[in-house]
Amino acid sequence: MFEKILIANRGEIALRIQRACREMGIKTVAVHSEADAEAKYVRLADESVCIGPAPSSQSYLNIPAIISAAEVTDAQAIHPGYGFLSENADFAERVEKSGFVFIGPSPETIRMMGDKVSAKIAMKKAGVPCVPGVDGALPENPTEIIKIARSIGYPVIIKAAGGGGGRGMRVVHTEAALLNAVAMTRSEAQSAFGNPVVYMEKFLEDPRHIEFQVLADSHGNAVHLGERDCSMQRRHQKIIEETPAPLLNTRLRDKIGERCAEACRKIGYRGAGTFEFLYEKGEFYFIEMNTRVQVEHPVTETVTGIDIVQQQIRIAAGERLALKQKDIAFRGHAIECRINAEHPYKFTPSPGRITAWHPPGGPGIRVDSHVYANYLVPPHYDSMIGKIIASGDTREQAMARMRTALSEMAVEGIETNIPLHQELMQDAAFIRGGTSIHYLENKLAERTKGK
Ligand code: ADP
Repeated sequence: MFEKILIANRGEIALRIQRACREMGIKTVAVHSEADAEAKYVRLADESVCIGPAPSSQSYLNIPAIISAAEVTDAQAIHPGYGFLSENADFAERVEKSGFVFIGPSPETIRMMGDKVSAKIAMKKAGVPCVPGVDGALPENPTEIIKIARSIGYPVIIKAAGGGGGRGMRVVHTEAALLNAVAMTRSEAQSAFGNPVVYMEKFLEDPRHIEFQVLADSHGNAVHLGERDCSMQRRHQKIIEETPAPLLNTRLRDKIGERCAEACRKIGYRGAGTFEFLYEKGEFYFIEMNTRVQVEHPVTETVTGIDIVQQQIRIAAGERLALKQKDIAFRGHAIECRINAEHPYKFTPSPGRITAWHPPGGPGIRVDSHVYANYLVPPHYDSMIGKIIASGDTREQAMARMRTALSEMAVEGIETNIPLHQELMQDAAFIRGGTSIHYLENKLAERTKGK
């Protein structure tokens, strides 16, 4: 096992990884920007290195600074967390070439999954159900493009192969709008991702977002840890996640989960990963794979009792998975609310000094957060300041505990989205379960209209 790991991230996930290391007796190195120098998790780490000024382009994305921090501290492995460099194949390659272990899949796998066209082709070949469409990139020839759209049937969606973060997509409802949409998506893709390749698939009108967590070792073993429903989204950003997905039968869950595990074995996947699907009318359609730990991993940890971050570390150290699929049991229900420093309805960021911080507690409540009273939320990064995970024997119990937790939680000095979560926990459609990815945006639009 490693003696020392460098954590190339910040915020709650940096603290989460640090906790996993501490429990395993592994020393930690925190790297931080000037803006995060005072953070508590930086002080709690065994060592810390400042890697640059506040803007992430000069710190958390600064590959040479991170590599030299690993060199001067004698770390053996680097955990990238999520966001920042976690899905950057060049970074993974540099880490390995510099003699460190990258805690994640191989650079080749990251590269393949980062290109959605190649990811989709590989997944289809490995038996994972995909959104109907045409394999491969769209050709240049307009007649060909029109033919492809007709064969798929409108509406279609044009997506950038190199896209991410919900950007680089355009829905097309009629043939008249097709060629223009393709041209615009291409040029956007070129300027935003440096890659003009686009592809086309069927646009699903009202799907849910359901994803599967997998773990695979470097010896050909892979298991799935069930699914998460992340349909409650705004601008393709998840805000509530839960497991199990409401109203999904366990036979179908196990079948798709096993397909994902099998796909990992076939492509030689290594590490933790997530297969994201759209789910509509009883069918699953693969959209992309995330090759890293996800924000919402705690709901899965809660119902399976498996520490996903520790599994990542063990896999990276070359251990065999000690878990067998038949031993993985799913107990109860867990829901996560992402707490953001933002206006609850206008969604404008609200960085600044937190003057009071009272996190909730009690049975079935987990709070993953790096903040505390007097903490200054820097304006430079993502607005998420923590997550509440509520669990119970049933979904009703988990929701009841979440309502209590949200009412206990008090954050002063900045605005947070806690009022929005409180409202959603009382929302009749959410309580019934199974709302689609458009539910929240439609609800927010109704409210704006009503005013
Ligand atoms: P990104 O990497 O940018 O997050 P994804 O491929 O994961 O892109 O898609 C992001 C979101 O876009 C999905 O969660 C869904 O809301 C929407 N989307 C993507 N593909 C389709 C599709 N074929 N039909 C309907 N919505 C889609």
